[in-house]
Formats: sequence, structure tokens, C-alpha cells
Amino acid sequence: MVVQTLVQLVCKLFYHTFAPFMQPINNIFPLLSQPKKVLITMHQKPDGDAMGSALGLYHFLNQFGHDVTVVSPTNWAAFLNWMPGCDKVLDYDTNGGKSDTAIDEADWIFCLDFNILSRTKRMEEKLKGAKGERILIDHHREPQTEVFTYGISDTAKSSTAEMVYDLIIDSGNADKINSDIGACLYAGVMTDTGSFRFPSTTASVHKMVAELKERGLEHSHVHEALFDNFLETRFRFIGHVLLNRMEVFYEYNTALIAIPQIDLIKYNVKTGDTEGLVNYPLSIQGIKLAAIIIDRGEERKSSFRSKGGFDVNTFARKYFNGGGHFNAAGGFNKEPLEEVVEKFKAAMKENVEQLSSYQF
Ligand code: 5GP
Ligand code: MN
Repeated sequence: MVVQTLVQLVCKLFYHTFAPFMQPINNIFPLLSQPKKVLITMHQKPDGDAMGSALGLYHFLNQFGHDVTVVSPTNWAAFLNWMPGCDKVLDYDTNGGKSDTAIDEADWIFCLDFNILSRTKRMEEKLKGAKGERILIDHHREPQTEVFTYGISDTAKSSTAEMVYDLIIDSGNADKINSDIGACLYAGVMTDTGSFRFPSTTASVHKMVAELKERGLEHSHVHEALFDNFLETRFRFIGHVLLNRMEVFYEYNTALIAIPQIDLIKYNVKTGDTEGLVNYPLSIQGIKLAAIIIDRGEERKSSFRSKGGFDVNTFARKYFNGGGHFNAAGGFNKEPLEEVVEKFKAAMKENVEQLSSYQF
């Protein structure tokens, strides 16, 4: 036992001493003008920021004559389809062959809006074995830096879209920003900041939006395309969920929505229809922690949101195999829905001190 622990310790030390560090992203700036085969990917079930940052980068790199392919690990919400270039994005689940060829041939593999390769689900092994250089652009905590040749990880950033914007500016290419890049990056930053309301919305974010506006962005079109494009069934579903599937635990300043698979079938719920649902209970007076657990069949997917000092990144890591940011995180479980709900309630009780001492 002692010998085993000692061996583990030595291995860890060796690894940390010799593991290559991720080089700063600025090191690729001089190489941008040499045309390459480029692959851009993002986390599974891409949201506005994952898809927006990927397509913003796509429109930027295309201008240098690179051969760029965007691959999503899975399908995505229909409300993202309006984004310029979205029709060219390959879905790894349905277009694996073409995607694998693009991964095999890529000189550069940009990994956007995720911190660990497992967030690409079935693509993880393929990405790990790729000969191309992996480049990280991300704002989540605890990135897997050892698997990236170049990269930037900054948890202070509002969105990956903002980081792609920084890359464009810092590499001296502001003149390449056009209305397509503007629309994609605006969609990313707007969705990840909750329409510019979260504390991550810095002065730099507003300056970026001003710059995008000056370069052709029509922001009201982006809002309409993202938020006024749903089917009636989605609203019937939300009504049902808020009425029948939400529990509020006032003594813990916590609210939980648990959705069985039967609801998803009954209301014909599609990818993206549940996006933002977790924010509803967070608008209830006094609620500090909001959670949603959805039975997606293959797994129970959870989302957590908090206000103020409750760290849902740690909460998701500890109890739900997940992670994310301080005030927005997610995870997944293999147990049945009822068990995950019980697990959540037990975790809530374990954190009673922090949750009940909420001050506005
Ligand atoms: P959402 O709740 O919108 O799916 O995700 C909120 C945040 O948590 C996002 O930044 C997302 O990347 C992260 N996140 C969601 N699910 C997981 C997960 O299963 N594992 C990890 N590490 N992060 C997650
Ligand atoms: Mn993001």
C-alpha cells in the first residue's frame, strides 16, 4: 500500500515536471498568414457561445485562405441555424466519416468553449489521437492544459466569443471583422452574459459590441433570430413544467425542476427547447440556487445556476460529475431520475449553511 502510494507520487511529480505547457495563443499570430487545414470544434450540444465563437473564428480564418471545417460533436438547437455558416457545420453523430477525415488532415484543431476533451463525448478519442496541433480558446475552470499545444484559458472572460474577438484584435486584424463575424460573436457574448446582465459583462464587453456595431452588426436581428423563433409546443411545455415539475425549498433558498422523459416525448421537445429553463426559478424572490434535472434517456443531464456566493462549479463537480463556472454549471448522472433528485436534495441539505445564509 505504502509502496503503491509512493509510486503514484513519483509518477505525478514526473508528469508535472515534464508535461509540456500550453504555449500562449499569441505564438500562433505570425503563423496565421500561412494557409493550413483547420478544424474547429466545440462542446457537445453547442449553445450560442460555442456555435457563435466557432463560426466567428471560421469567418475570420477563411479570409487568410485556410481550408476550414467546423465539426460539432452532436446536433444543436434549431434556433442557431440562422447563423452565417451554420449550414456548413458537420454533426459528428450523423457525419462521422467526413468529420474523421477532416480531423485526420487538420494541421490546427481549435477547441472552443470547453475545458476538457471529454466534453466532446464520442469525438474525444479521435481528438486525442489527432496529429494536428490542438489549440484551446475557453473560459471554463481547470482546463486540461496538457493536451493543448497552444491556447488561452481565462475564467474572467464573459464568453469564448469575446476571446475570439480578442484574438482578432490582438493579432492586428480588426479590419477583417465583417457583419458575419459580428453576428456570430454577438450571439455568443449575448447568450453567455444572459443578455448583458451577468457580472461577467465588463466594460470590454460593451466596447466589443460597440466595435461590432461600427462594423455592420445588426443586433436586433440577432435577438429576433434567437428569441422569437420558437414553436408553440415549447411554451406549452414550459407552462406544464413550471406548474407541475417545479419544487421550491424556501428554507434552502433553492428551487428544483425535474423533468421525466415522458414530458419530452409528449411535448415533442427538441434540442435547445430546455435552454434557459433553469433561469425561471432563479427569478423567484430569495432563490439563490436553481437546478434542473432532465431525463434524456441515455443520462440524467443537470444544469445549475446560482446568485451571489454559492459556487455551482464546485457543487456540480462534487455531486454530479460536472463543472462549469462559479454561477453556471452542469453535470450528468447515470442513475434513474428519482435517485438523482434524491441526490440533489441530500446535497442541498449538506450545503444548508451556505444556502440559508443568503443576503441580498
Ligand atoms: P448548461 O447548464 O447551460 O448546460 O451549462 C452551464 C455551464 O456548465 C456551461 O459553461 C457548460 O459548459 C458547463 N457544463 C454543463 N454541463 C457540463 C458537464 O457535464 N461537465 C462539465 N465539466 N461542464 C458542464
Ligand atoms: Mn461559453
